[in-house]
Amino acid sequence: MNLRIPGPTPCPPEVLEAMGRQMINHRGPEFRALLVNVLSRIKKIYQTEGEVLIFTCSGTGGMEAAIVNTMSPGDHVLSVTNGSFGDRFARIATEFGGQVIKLSFEWGDPVDHQAVSKALKDDPSIKLVLVTHNETSTGVTNDLEAVGAAVREQGRLLLVDAVSSLGAIDLPMDEWGCDVVVTGSQKSWMVPPGLAMVAVSKRAWKAVEEASSPRFYWDFRSMKRFQDNGETPFTPAISVYFALAAALDAMEKEGFANVVARHARVGAYTRNMVKGLGLSLFPNEDYASNTVTAIRAPEGVDVKSLLRTLREQHEVVLAGGQGKLDGRIFRVGHLGYVSEADIDVVREALRAVLPLEASKG
Ligand code: PLP
Repeated sequence: MNLRIPGPTPCPPEVLEAMGRQMINHRGPEFRALLVNVLSRIKKIYQTEGEVLIFTCSGTGGMEAAIVNTMSPGDHVLSVTNGSFGDRFARIATEFGGQVIKLSFEWGDPVDHQAVSKALKDDPSIKLVLVTHNETSTGVTNDLEAVGAAVREQGRLLLVDAVSSLGAIDLPMDEWGCDVVVTGSQKSWMVPPGLAMVAVSKRAWKAVEEASSPRFYWDFRSMKRFQDNGETPFTPAISVYFALAAALDAMEKEGFANVVARHARVGAYTRNMVKGLGLSLFPNEDYASNTVTAIRAPEGVDVKSLLRTLREQHEVVLAGGQGKLDGRIFRVGHLGYVSEADIDVVREALRAVLPLEASKG
């Protein structure tokens, strides 16, 4: 199968091999060495002087951790959203009692940093800003640098969902003024699902100390205390840590700048493939993501049937649309262990299947 969804993504053979290693004591010297090693290398990809914490959970767990550690019930929160994952971040804050003000943009368009700046100037009571770096549901990469500058200028905290960007798209967290940045192992990192990485800026720690939301599993303070001793408070997904170390070896061998350049190249290659087939991109192309491409379903083509035929007859697995984009778009993931050759396979499958599907409609 050619798995071309925006996560979970395929893993290189050496990563899968690492997953099969025998268990070790999670409170012993081997895990301690593994944790220290992995943390120091991830920090370089975040480009941060802050703290990186690793939780055994999916990306959404990392998002919830970001909220409960920095927000108190009743806090005013600005949710900057242009898709389904931005809406999810807002929902989590709402569930924990935040007073969420939504600044929504058309799905397919980027968020507007000037509007963020204005919203913050107009409402000094806003404490936290939530934003999605790469909106996987629409295939848009937001200008996080500009949003970060706007938030920093107004002295608020910026929580970033970088679940489908970090590790593939450059995100110098400190330079861009981000305070909490969340990512997930099953995306750009070429690792199976199971770990969420959360980086916390020095500024954010003050909020962590002051926040009054209830938290136990997600408590940044206990995670930091344990990690400082080479442990985690609860049993970690040890196999996924093994895999992560192997994937980091591969990323370092390639060189992180080359990893980012490969994603930019493959992203452009995918967009050209789409246009070459006479299809149209869903998002504003100036902000089209280098990790996922969203494509408008051609007139008369049923997306579910298209995806089924691709899978059953060509062993190519693509993703459909989410929420209000269900049935209107389909998506190709190109993050992590991916090259142009994988996109060629997608192109050939689409070329074979699309006329057939269109004739059904
Ligand atoms: N945020 C973004 C941008 C995502 O792409 C995803 C997963 O697709 C998530 C959050 C949620 O991650 P998970 O499914 O690992 O909880």
